[in-house]
Amino acid sequence: MDFLILSHAHIDHCGRIPLLVKRGFDGPIYCSDATAVVLGIMLRDSAHIHENEAEWKTRKALRAGKDPVEPLYTTEDAENSLKTVRPVRYGETVQAAEDVRFVFRDAGHILGSAIAEIFVREGGAEKKLVFSGDLGASHRPLLNDPTVIEEADAVIMETTYGDRLHEENQSSLAALSNIIETTMARGGTVLIPSFAVGRTQELLYELNAYAEQSGRNVLTGVKVYVDSPMAAAATEAFRKNVQDFDAEAQALVRKGDDPLDFATLVFTNTTEESKALNRDETPKIIISASGMCEAGRIRHHLKHHLWKRTSSVVFVGYQAEGTLGRRITEGAKTVMLFGEEIAVRAQIYNLQGFSAHADKNGLLAWVKGFTKKPRTLILVHGEAEPKRAFAQTVEKATGIRPFIVEHLGQTVEL
Ligand SMILES: [Zn+2]
Ligand SMILES: [Zn+2]
Repeated sequence: MDFLILSHAHIDHCGRIPLLVKRGFDGPIYCSDATAVVLGIMLRDSAHIHENEAEWKTRKALRAGKDPVEPLYTTEDAENSLKTVRPVRYGETVQAAEDVRFVFRDAGHILGSAIAEIFVREGGAEKKLVFSGDLGASHRPLLNDPTVIEEADAVIMETTYGDRLHEENQSSLAALSNIIETTMARGGTVLIPSFAVGRTQELLYELNAYAEQSGRNVLTGVKVYVDSPMAAAATEAFRKNVQDFDAEAQALVRKGDDPLDFATLVFTNTTEESKALNRDETPKIIISASGMCEAGRIRHHLKHHLWKRTSSVVFVGYQAEGTLGRRITEGAKTVMLFGEEIAVRAQIYNLQGFSAHADKNGLLAWVKGFTKKPRTLILVHGEAEPKRAFAQTVEKATGIRPFIVEHLGQTVEL
């Protein structure tokens, strides 16, 4: 492998880079400038998790008379892999090899997310391959809409929500402000499990609007705690990359407002600060990771609030099968946390209008953006059903018959 083109810093796209480097890859890793910043946060955190897990498993293994367990990769591997990162601006042409050049376009999915337009010369002719990365939903706060690409010979695109439509962002926002108002009125706490990078900053952007716009201010005197050191670091990365915000958010910055900050916002970093939140009975909002409640400080907050009828838990992201978040949203009456059975008495809400992915209509609109139909359209990054359903939708609407990737290792002639 000569080089790597990275679309964005979500862990399902970048999480194995340190492993690649550990196994000998030392070529350049191209990504957008904002992705380069977020990538550092993600990979260091991931390495830390792998190290902790291996340490815990090793203790168990040694007691059982077995060999110690090696982490998938270490913090050192993560640091090594960050050394060859090459930040690239949207629209800048990079000559990655003699016959290969590429350009990044804004994918509107998370800060720094990119679509790659890749031009390959072979036998005197040039072909263009477009890799969608993950595509954002249109009209979302903070970020631009995904860039429409008009030409390609071959396209590889994501299909995460190829079979579904999202709830309108606006109705989720209205619901959130209602939940905050009613929960504060009955003296409870609103808990929001949230991914540290992306979703948390979008929530802050919306809460900033509640706090500072005239009219209905549901946040008067209400403290909003972001209880995740990673979310704090990611918010800093956002602040340093205002150039990637959408026009509305940039206008706020020009007016002198920091759209990710308001008077009652508090970032809690230390474990002590986090624990202190659980002894504090005043009504408040806590945003904490992880988004699916599988790890992190959110589990402590759930232990202290799930059993209280006055509190609310608001899910704002996808909850994968088998996760604690999924069990709670599906109506579990009790859950196990830290070896203790906890009753679920809090109000549980599931708001789906905050998705970072384009839905079926958004994906189709992006395909229709090609004024010259691509000869090959390859569907990836989705479960079997959404991929199949989206292939049908595309064929019906455009006449293009997409190629569905069924399994790893499949070869496609472009
Ligand atoms: Zn993603
Ligand atoms: Zn993804």
